[in-house]
Amino acid sequence: MTMLENLIRQDVFTPGPVRMADDILRLGAVQTPYFRNEAFSQLVLECERWLLKIANAPAGSRVVFLTAAGTAAMEATVMNLLAQERPAAVINGGTFGQRLVDICELHRVPVLQVKVDRDPLSDGSALAELGKVDALLVTAHETSVGHLYDLHATARFCRDQNCLHVVDGISAFITDPIDMQSQGIDALIISSHKGLALPPGLAMVLLSPAALARVHGSCSYYFDFASHLRDGARGQTPFTPAVSIFLQLHERLRQIVETGIEAEWARAQSVAEYFRRGISRLPLAPYSTHMPNAMTALEMTNRASAMDVVRELESRHRIMVAPNGGDLRDRVFRVSHMGATSINDMDRVIAALAEIL
Ligand SMILES: *Cc1c(COP(=O)(O)O)cnc(C)c1O
Repeated sequence: MTMLENLIRQDVFTPGPVRMADDILRLGAVQTPYFRNEAFSQLVLECERWLLKIANAPAGSRVVFLTAAGTAAMEATVMNLLAQERPAAVINGGTFGQRLVDICELHRVPVLQVKVDRDPLSDGSALAELGKVDALLVTAHETSVGHLYDLHATARFCRDQNCLHVVDGISAFITDPIDMQSQGIDALIISSHKGLALPPGLAMVLLSPAALARVHGSCSYYFDFASHLRDGARGQTPFTPAVSIFLQLHERLRQIVETGIEAEWARAQSVAEYFRRGISRLPLAPYSTHMPNAMTALEMTNRASAMDVVRELESRHRIMVAPNGGDLRDRVFRVSHMGATSINDMDRVIAALAEIL
């Protein structure tokens, strides 16, 4: 088998990229159309409208579309909304919280770090000692440990402080309830290759009117929100976008709006619960008590190494799950339920795990 054949025959259960539906895959195989015209503008405007609807964004919200990985949208949000002289609080409970800290520090935004370990933040105690901040940055689902934060609690803090609520919803959007109005979210960062189950390449930031009012002249040419918003008003982007992913995004959003986002949450929840029941007799334990529908992080309860399990799933079954790094390398691995993942798919993973463990 060639290297390429080997790659495309993977059975993917990683938290990005995720399993894609057949009709979306077929749309990825068409000729890339020209995009500086009315037809493409209409498609972009419809994507913006549908995204705002699915996220239940407040009236007057807008979307910035970036052709980039999700991290670019995190960095662009910091560059365009935060300022060097005004402190921001960042929830840091894993790799992605740490990434927000690093981005703020690089851009000289003073950071008040809230270091937590699988604390849902619901009782507000982790936030109680924080001084006055200009923004709170939180990862909806900390993908490195499979843990959900209580966005209603972080929203309460932001309301009391009158500060921006910036949410990295990349690995929660579509599978887990995200509601910009009820969760008071001002900037919602999402990307194409998680719950939306598209190829990587498009990252989006949904901005409430409060966030739009804070967009300032940024220090970046490519990531300048003001120019994206100006061109976006007529359904265009300043530079060539990932045109083919836009075609797939449009179809995916059309389907979600047609069936309702609640059906997506329920699908992911039932698949996640099925998987968790299926592995309950194996020497594995959920790593978090506040798990998302998107993914399950599992801790080894016997002496086996999590990294060895990940390797054997790949070498013996072509099943790709996500290993952890650092201290968790031998203790934890992660199985995604995002995208077009079915109960049958989960049966394959459960059977493979039962054989290995
Ligand atoms: C995947 C992910 C990102 C972005 O990762 P990229 O590799 O830059 O696309 C950011 N935040 C969270 C929570 C994620 O799960």
